[in-house]
Order: sequence, then structure tokens, then C-alpha cells
Amino acid sequence: MLIKDIDRYILTRPDVRESLEYNVVRKNPLRVSSRIAFIYPSLYDVMLSSLAVDMIYFLVNEIEDVYLERFHVRSLKGYEKDPRSLETRSPLKDFDLYISSIHYEPDIVNLVNLLESGGIHPLRRERKKILILGGPGVMANPIPFEDIADVFVIGEIENTMKEIIELFLEYKDDKKRFLEKISDLSYVYVPEYTEGFVKRSYVKDLDESFYPIRQIENIEIEPVYGRGFKLEISRGCKHWCSFCFESRLFQPYRERSLQRLKEIVEKGSRYTLGGKRIIIYSLLMPASIDQIRFLEYLVENGYKASIPSLRINDLFLNTDFLDLVSLLGQRTIVTAPETFSLKIQKTYFKYIEPETHLLSKLMYIIDRGFDLKIYMIYGAKWEKMEDIKTSIDAIKKIARYSKERGRSLSVSLNPLMPRPKTLFQWIGMRELDQLKNILRIFREELGGIIDLRPLDLEWSLIQTSISLSPRPLGELIIEWSREGRGASSWIRILKRHNIDLRYVFEGYKYGDVLPWDRIIIGENVEEVAKKQYETLNMILSR
Ligand code: SF4
Repeated sequence: MLIKDIDRYILTRPDVRESLEYNVVRKNPLRVSSRIAFIYPSLYDVMLSSLAVDMIYFLVNEIEDVYLERFHVRSLKGYEKDPRSLETRSPLKDFDLYISSIHYEPDIVNLVNLLESGGIHPLRRERKKILILGGPGVMANPIPFEDIADVFVIGEIENTMKEIIELFLEYKDDKKRFLEKISDLSYVYVPEYTEGFVKRSYVKDLDESFYPIRQIENIEIEPVYGRGFKLEISRGCKHWCSFCFESRLFQPYRERSLQRLKEIVEKGSRYTLGGKRIIIYSLLMPASIDQIRFLEYLVENGYKASIPSLRINDLFLNTDFLDLVSLLGQRTIVTAPETFSLKIQKTYFKYIEPETHLLSKLMYIIDRGFDLKIYMIYGAKWEKMEDIKTSIDAIKKIARYSKERGRSLSVSLNPLMPRPKTLFQWIGMRELDQLKNILRIFREELGGIIDLRPLDLEWSLIQTSISLSPRPLGELIIEWSREGRGASSWIRILKRHNIDLRYVFEGYKYGDVLPWDRIIIGENVEEVAKKQYETLNMILSR
């Protein structure tokens, strides 16, 4: 039975002696039929920034007969000690069901560490209780995790979680029966039982779907993006940049209506410590006139906002969008040109315009008084020194321009990481030595001129080695967890077990069956990857 008014379960004033958290759901664990542990496999402040956590937490806790409590890791190294739930300080063993969401593949080691230290076996074959996994890190390719989790949810929280929990309540005393039953759901992958395809389930109309009006906050600890009400204005993306994993996972593009956004903001900001500050979540912005109307509404009503990474398009350039962003208190524009080389741009299917055009747009942002943060990708296998030099020269120009105008520039440098369901699954990642070499050149040329923020290459390799893996990695991940969870220990373990990393560096053979083919992630996703791969070959053969 669903409760009509969740308010009666929520403390609007935190009990400072027990917790510094705000908006926590309180239930009596003795009065529910099942206790669910939601294990966030990363640190507390990262968990606070996750809208998905609020979504799962409040959605599941709407079910009267269960109490979902949260766990997180205290450190990313070593061994977690005696994990306890945030709500009732209960040990992991006291729970009937475990749920976790993986956003970043290497976080699986934190989950395994937490399970082990809580006395729960990380391998499904050794465990009586059920572990359900979901999230972007497992949806496209659950295979690396399939000896750990019993159930994979290939879909969005709002239209999957309640159905799953209700099935659990019905069959919770019989694991085998539950797994058989749940494997009938089209969006669920049960390694033991699923035959055939699994089709991702997604919300058709965001306006009609659940939204967490209350969100957990902490009086002392700020989330990564600062305090404020987390607001997802749209989901998915209209574009198909060839390297982009997220756009595949969240297809198709959907927007919340202006009316619904206003309603959510008005209600949500009443329960937020950040008051009238809104943290906007969106993969694609600006994407419509309605989004601009929404920013106007925020300005007119005295809100401040944190704006996500932006796409430089006509709406960005030809409307009062930037004025609104400024009035909302944002001082830095984040955008991702990825590369300034026209040749590489054509293979990324993102911006396709000469370096001078792209530069003039970035200069325009600086002229409007903003600091600039740009994201760049390097390391496509066909990227030559001249392409890298084009990007470096362009960054130098923009650095000089911003310095002359007293604005700051920071550049995040990411190696190209091949992901399932993108054309790079057939291409693979460049060798680590080559990537290190390119990174060294960027550092030599740009270090000291700008704030350069390169992504760690070892962790990029780890992420790729998990995300593209054709085999279950549970046993290795347990070793990794026991050996301290560091980057070098994972690489040592791969060597110790003679894991052939050709799937990482060479990719899969085009036309062969892929390990994740049974997962249908979204409309057209597989077709787009094939078409882009064929187009890429044409471009490269010219
Ligand atoms: S990189 Fe950005 S614009 Fe391109 S597909 Fe991904 S989310 Fe969309």
C-alpha cells in the first residue's frame, strides 16, 4: 500500500544529536516488513550531489511497508570499518535487500569493500540475500558485474523501482522464485535466468513522473555543486556525438514543461537549506525557447542557479540566454569544444566548424564577462601531432585573450575512452604510453599558462577495462578491494591473472556478436553506432 502523504514520515527539522541531515525519512524499522539498504559506492558529499539517490530514496520510501536506508563509503582506500546506515545506525546484515547504483564503473570496488566489511558476501552464488544493481555504469554492459549482482535494472528509476520492490515483497522469502519472477520483466537482466533481449525502460513523459521535492541535505557538509535544490530540466540529448556514452544511455531527449518546472521549483525550494538556489541538471542546454523562458522565470522570482555544461548553439548566441545566466549568478561558463582540429571534429560528430569560428564563440563568452572552463578530448587513434598542435595553439589564443580581459580559463583534458554502444567499441583505446606522451605535450605547452586539469590516465584505463569487459570480474574486484582499491593494484591484478586487454586497446571486431548485444539500450542507439562507424571509415579513407 502506498502512503498518501509522505510528509508524516519526514522530519523537516533534523535531530541534531543524531544526525545533521535535513529531510530524512524516518520510519520505525520494526514496523515495516522489509528493510532495504541502499549502498552508495562513493563518498558522502558525492552522494549528496546525486539526484538519482534522492529519486530512489523518496520513491522507494513512499512504499509504506519498506524502509530504505542509506550507506556510503567513508574512504576510497583501505578497508571500510563496520558500515552502518545513516538513518538508524544499523549494520548491513540487518537488511533484507541490497540496492546499489553504479555511476562510475570503478566504484564497484567500493561496493564490494562495503559488502565484505559488512559481512555480506560480494559474490551472488555465495549470498542468500539479493543485490540489485542499476545505474549508468552497468546499464549498457552488466557482464563485468554479473557474478556480483543478482538483478540488473536496465531502466530509469521512476518506472522500474516500485514494480521491483513490490515483487520483492511478494517473493522475498524465496530467492529463486523472486529471481524467476523478476526475470519476466522486460527491463530486468537476471544473469541466472534471463534469456533473450533486455529492453531499457524509460519515462515517456517527465511531467507525469515522480520528482523528489524533498532532497536530503546536510547542515555542515556541502554537496559537490554547492547548496541548492537539484532540478533536472531535461533528460537525454538530441545529439549523437560519437564518443558520448550518456546520450546513448538516456535516449530519447525529453524535457519537463515550463509549467511543471515552475511547480517543482516553488515546492522544492521551500524544503531546501540553499533557499532560492537551483542546481540545474541537464545534458543539453540551451535546447529550447521554453528553457530560456524558465531562466527568465527564475530571474524574475529572485532565484540563483548553477548552470551545467552548455552547448554553443543558436539559442546560446542569439537570445538573451547569457544575460540570464549572468543574472542567475553564474560567473563561469562550462562548455566542451572537445577539439579544435576540423579533421577530428568530423569524427566526433559534434561541432564541425573551423577553429577560428569556434574560437570566436569562446571569445564572445569572455567578452560577455564570464570565466571559461572548457572540456577537451584527446587520443583518438587517428589523431596526429598536427591535430594536437591545432588544439594547443587555439587554447593558447584563448588563454591570451582571457588573460588580457582579466578572465580565467581552465581546461579539462580527457583521454578518449571507448564505451559500449558507441562506435569506439570497435576502435578501442590508444595505448597508455601514447596517451601519456600526448598529455606530456599538452603539459609542456600549456602548463603555467592556464589551469590544466587532466583526467588520470590509469583510472581512465581502469574504467575502460571494466566497462568494455566481456567477462565477469567479481573475483578480481574482490582481490582489488582486499589490496587497498588503488589504481596500481587493479593493474597489477589484471597482469597477475593474465587478462588480455586487447578488447580495451583494439576494441571488438565489427560484425561480431558483442558481449552486450542482448541489452537494447534505446531507440536507434545500435543503428546510430553502426552508421557512424561506416561514416567514420569513409572519412578516414579520404
Ligand atoms: S557530448 Fe553533449 S551534445 Fe554531444 S551527445 Fe553528449 S550530451 Fe549531447
